Amino acid sequence: MMNETQRLLKTTKPYLAVREDKAREALNHCYLIISDDDVARKGLCRLAAKVALCPHGGCDECDVCEKIDDGAYVALRINESEKISVDDVSQLIEDSYFTGFDGDMKVYVISNMQGMNEKAQNKFLKTLEEPPEDVVFVLGASQQTAVLPTILSRCKKLYFEGFTAGQIYGALTEGNDDPDEDTVRAATRASVCGFGNLTRAQKLYADAEFGEKFSLLVSVIRNLTSTKKLDEQLSRLKIDKNNLDGYLDIAETVFRLLLASGTAAEAEGFEELKGMREQFDRPVLVNILDLIIKCKRMSESNCNPLSVADTLFIGILEVKYLCRK
Ligand SMILES: [Zn+2]
Repeated sequence: MMNETQRLLKTTKPYLAVREDKAREALNHCYLIISDDDVARKGLCRLAAKVALCPHGGCDECDVCEKIDDGAYVALRINESEKISVDDVSQLIEDSYFTGFDGDMKVYVISNMQGMNEKAQNKFLKTLEEPPEDVVFVLGASQQTAVLPTILSRCKKLYFEGFTAGQIYGALTEGNDDPDEDTVRAATRASVCGFGNLTRAQKLYADAEFGEKFSLLVSVIRNLTSTKKLDEQLSRLKIDKNNLDGYLDIAETVFRLLLASGTAAEAEGFEELKGMREQFDRPVLVNILDLIIKCKRMSESNCNPLSVADTLFIGILEVKYLCRK
């Protein structure tokens, strides 16, 4: 993980909460860090583990911290798999009860509880009900609803609410002291379009075509003034199953930016959006964002990409028509 990201994570509420517990010698048996930002969630889980294990609450300097950074600390087990099966949980339980360790305590990190199915979660619950002594679990989940209520009730829940665009910009441009104009522009756009989520911003920043696709989609939306123009405008996007999800994401970004405030978006370097805010009232934008979520679900259930695009763009026209003054 980048240093800037580490530094930012150490200013967050979840991190500070675990530090405070450690300082009071009142660590919980189980923490659950909730954030849909993969990079932030994994980072926070690892940092929380370090705070728990380091005699100085995560100093980054002692032998324990050094070993943790090298992945060589025996009493720390990290599971960052996307999927966690019943067998994985059985192994973990056996390990937590029977394997000896050198330090004062053992920490288990499981960053993707949303990838642990219900059966596995129920098995895991039994461990939380009678936790082995001197074991701390640090769990992460993309959302609270992904974790069984029975597990939730046994965890100290820590919510991460996201970074500011400025913080994300700093993380994206770390190590580049003299960025050129294009870099500044790309990083500014990605950090604003991340909406607090560093993982999302990093993906946008790494996508060389993001700026181009963004401009194209905005142009299509601007020129889509009636159903007669639908086919002509849609054909400009060359929608297929490989680019549909990307365009849905960009559409969401466009309308969220407009909702956040047209003028602020312009100031942040989104010239394409100039004057667009006036075409869309707030209720229209809210309805369109709902529509985009519906289209994303259609895409997930493998609907024909062109019908999904039709649904979106006809929907946008309908919402505009219904909400007209
Ligand atoms: Zn330390």
